[in-house]
Amino acid sequence: MTATIPVPGGSVATRIALLSGPEEALNQAQASTATCAPGLASGPWDFDAAPGYGPGASLTDAAPAGIPRQAELPEEYRRTSDAELEERITRAKEFLGDRVVILGHFYQRDEVVRHADFVGDSFQLARAAKSRPDAEAIVFCGVHFMAETADLLSGPDQAVVLPNLAAGCSMADMADADSVAECWEQLSALYGEAPDALGRQPVIPVTYMNSSAALKAFCGENGGIVCTSSNAAAVLEWAFERGQRVLFFPDQHLGRNTAKAMGIPLAAMPMWNPRLPLGGNTPQTLQDAKVLLWNGFCSVHKRFTVAQIEQARAEHPGVRVIVHPECPMPVVDAADESGSTDYIQKAIAAAPAGSTFAVGTEINMVNRLAAQYPQHTIFCLDPVICPCSTMYRIHPGYLAWVLEGLAAGQVHNRITVPAATASAARTALERMLAVRP
Ligand code: SF4
Repeated sequence: MTATIPVPGGSVATRIALLSGPEEALNQAQASTATCAPGLASGPWDFDAAPGYGPGASLTDAAPAGIPRQAELPEEYRRTSDAELEERITRAKEFLGDRVVILGHFYQRDEVVRHADFVGDSFQLARAAKSRPDAEAIVFCGVHFMAETADLLSGPDQAVVLPNLAAGCSMADMADADSVAECWEQLSALYGEAPDALGRQPVIPVTYMNSSAALKAFCGENGGIVCTSSNAAAVLEWAFERGQRVLFFPDQHLGRNTAKAMGIPLAAMPMWNPRLPLGGNTPQTLQDAKVLLWNGFCSVHKRFTVAQIEQARAEHPGVRVIVHPECPMPVVDAADESGSTDYIQKAIAAAPAGSTFAVGTEINMVNRLAAQYPQHTIFCLDPVICPCSTMYRIHPGYLAWVLEGLAAGQVHNRITVPAATASAARTALERMLAVRP
């Protein structure tokens, strides 16, 4: 097994370039890690016309046929040096002033995040966008479902822009509206629609924030709700007050880890495989279920293992292991703590100087935390550099293209949720906001 050694300073993109470059550069950098895909060193535009998610953690995930494709990025942005892109982005941003707000997700590459007005998780960023109602454009340097959420929460005259349309989320794409509707039909046929003696519905749909607006709307229309990784337990409690069971999508791991921590036995959490009748379950298993888990996962968080935790503990006595709840259950169980990106950041900020952290979440965020808190030793549990494939698609070239477009009066890559979907999706989001955190 490769040694778990902290990634040295510099951005993840710089590390990828060094690891993919000539051997001398690699030696110079005293590199101790590898990348998960050679294509990471290419410009992401090389993959815009190709099916799939491109290099990175989601490389081998099956991408649905209908996922958005990015039109060819004009050559001037593909051929421009990093330094010139940096300058052009800065100039365009200065020119646009308060007319634009740039949002950067925690998992976004440094070269892009450094231009962001706000950095945070998907929901923090959607709320940040709400705090700038006068901005004409919200440039969301995240992935597709995040831009949709920003559109749901922003004003009708504000344009939400996703710099690269191919920046989807493989986990969100694992639950599409048709498959969920089909599942719902089968469950309704099995459970009926009548409430029990306590007035609880047979099943309440709960979608993770990492899902399309269409699925949030589905929840809004069917008595359901949205959750984040910060409030999943409170949302499940809300759902159990109103329902006998929960259908949780798309992330099986967040659902399982949360429900297990609430004391729900694993036997009452069958998985729903959308390709099989009754999701691959018997009618009795579904009758006995408390939480039906959709068969989705995040390929970034799926990479973390118990063996990595054991190795971190062996090499760094006293290390605090914190992982994201999108990690598989054995990893969450073996870690010292698990929590959302916000939780991870706060835990590190509050720790006494000289602490050592092994973190199980996306490498760009871990690397940035290491730079931000030099008083600690912070490293990623995964020794291989493997960023989120789709966040990786937002290269500074695309950011320069959309900003210079806005400066010239052109809106590229606007993300708009249709009005009927938006209204029902807001209902599910509002239910979540009314739940205590
Ligand atoms: S890290 Fe995972 S859940 Fe987050 S955007 Fe990437 S694939 Fe989706």
